Amino acid sequence: MSKGRLIVFSAPSGCGKGTMLAEILKDEHFRCSVSATTREPRAGEIDGVNYHFFSREYFEQRIQEGAFLEHAEYCENLYGTLLSEVDDGLENGIDVILEIEVQGALKIMEKRPEAIFVFITPPSIAELRRRLKKRGTESDEVIEKRISKAAGEIAQAKKYDYVIVNDALEDAVSDFLAVIRAEKLKAEFSGDLIDEVIKNA
Ligand code: 5GP
Repeated sequence: MSKGRLIVFSAPSGCGKGTMLAEILKDEHFRCSVSATTREPRAGEIDGVNYHFFSREYFEQRIQEGAFLEHAEYCENLYGTLLSEVDDGLENGIDVILEIEVQGALKIMEKRPEAIFVFITPPSIAELRRRLKKRGTESDEVIEKRISKAAGEIAQAKKYDYVIVNDALEDAVSDFLAVIRAEKLKAEFSGDLIDEVIKNA
């Protein structure tokens, strides 16, 4: 069985990535790694499902233990990808999606350059502000903080392999699936397949 691919999926918060991921994850070849964070759970979020909610002290202990593939500080909270969430899935042929911000993605570019790096952008900052306000989960002050953070992140999108504009959900999801499909057909990942094709030549 061929190994799964690691997919880094970054989008400023409020970009519609949650809805996009819900669509993508309907296909069981994909799994989303559950990150750890020190931020407080939002209404409806479940420990172990949306995030592993850690205290700062426990998070720092896990860093010392080498439990993370990457971690970063974002809006005064720590977020990190646990190695235990990633490598089992890849070994079992599952494509593992890391829904992480830019600093974490840059670390993965160094550690796992073979990963597929996809950046999701809103059509404009004005549209992002409208979506964040509509979500209503954060105060105006937090929203403005996240918007200025988002602008900085969008400016780094060119470092990724692919940029997808999430204007219409269906189009954005289909762009994402097209990217992954094409990536899987790359010649550099076709070693076993080619050996099989020419086996009895
Ligand atoms: P939120 O608090 O809105 O759930 O997430 C805030 C930001 O943290 C988002 O940009 C999200 O992609 C990012 N994030 C979530 N999990 C991780 C992680 O494991 N590592 C890093 N570096 N960022 C993460």
